[in-house]
Amino acid sequence: MNKADILDLKKILSNPKKVVIVPHKNPDGDAMGSTLGLCNYLKKLGHSAMVIAPNDYPEFLKWIPGTKDVLIHEENTSVAEAHISQADLIFTLDFNALHRCGAMETPIENSAAIKIMIDHHQQPDDYATYIYSDVSICSTSEMVYHFIEMMDGLKHIDVAIGEALYTGIMTDTASFRFPLTTSTTHRVIAHLIDIGVEKTHIHNAVYDTNSFGRLQLLGCALSNLTFLEPFKTAYISLTNKELEANDFQKGDTEGFVNYGLSLKGAKLAVIFIEHKQEGIIKISFRSKGDFDVNSFARTHFNGGGHKNASGGRSNLNLEETIAEFISILSEYKSELNS
Ligand code: 5GP
Ligand code: MN
Repeated sequence: MNKADILDLKKILSNPKKVVIVPHKNPDGDAMGSTLGLCNYLKKLGHSAMVIAPNDYPEFLKWIPGTKDVLIHEENTSVAEAHISQADLIFTLDFNALHRCGAMETPIENSAAIKIMIDHHQQPDDYATYIYSDVSICSTSEMVYHFIEMMDGLKHIDVAIGEALYTGIMTDTASFRFPLTTSTTHRVIAHLIDIGVEKTHIHNAVYDTNSFGRLQLLGCALSNLTFLEPFKTAYISLTNKELEANDFQKGDTEGFVNYGLSLKGAKLAVIFIEHKQEGIIKISFRSKGDFDVNSFARTHFNGGGHKNASGGRSNLNLEETIAEFISILSEYKSELNS
């Protein structure tokens, strides 16, 4: 986003606008934190702003200020699409390609609204009028803070905005431990704490509300953990049967893949999850160091993301997907051992 873009957007936002803010499908903490943070900010400035999510999101995020006004496109399609077509501005947050918002892709494409992308994933597509893309920033929520800063709006940041942004920064950095957590990230967090954000309350709300079923499912996932020592690769699989046996709820498998990466010597960790409803295997990849899982997911599993965290999918069944994955790994043996 250059100076001319910033001036343009300041001018555009200098009088009340109808704004729709969109996270990616299956929204995570950063997607909901960034969209709700921006929404709370724009409402405070007098805009008519709303978050429209492609589908539902996990319970552990449903305390973030503004949650009750989130519209779910999958559940309320005609109302959502009326808002999209009448919007003056559409912000798309935490994704880099319109297909990442599922069935909202076409209505957004067809809307005459000015489109603004704020995102930190690699290789963004070119669908937006204004693009604020920076792959060196840990989270879209931190980018929303910097966007507000560029709009000279930091003085408007209150607890409702701050709690949303804190949540996204915390979840996308795994509580401030991933490599892209910088001193700037900590300064942003420090500011949010200074204005009254209660950090312990947020950590508890997000991480300490496990259901019994989720912990049992974690036990199941860990007992399925396999380590391919020659490839420094740990992987976990979960069948639909195992999900159902443990009362699977949306978001329950969030973070499981990181256990694989915590294994001594692991450079690559993967989780394969059978999604019966969509008829696919959803895959998450995590890596340490230089092994680029964005490019790995793009090349082999129709996905993408970041260098050290990405996702993808397979149309084969679970066993075939894992077999294919293991056969692909041989191409990467020397890279994984370097
Ligand atoms: P997760 O494994 O938690 O679903 O995703 C890890 C990261 O990769 C997230 O930043 C997510 O947005 C991104 N990601 C996950 N799946 C896909 C995908 O299919 N395509 C792309 N481009 N990015 C993905
Ligand atoms: Mn993110």
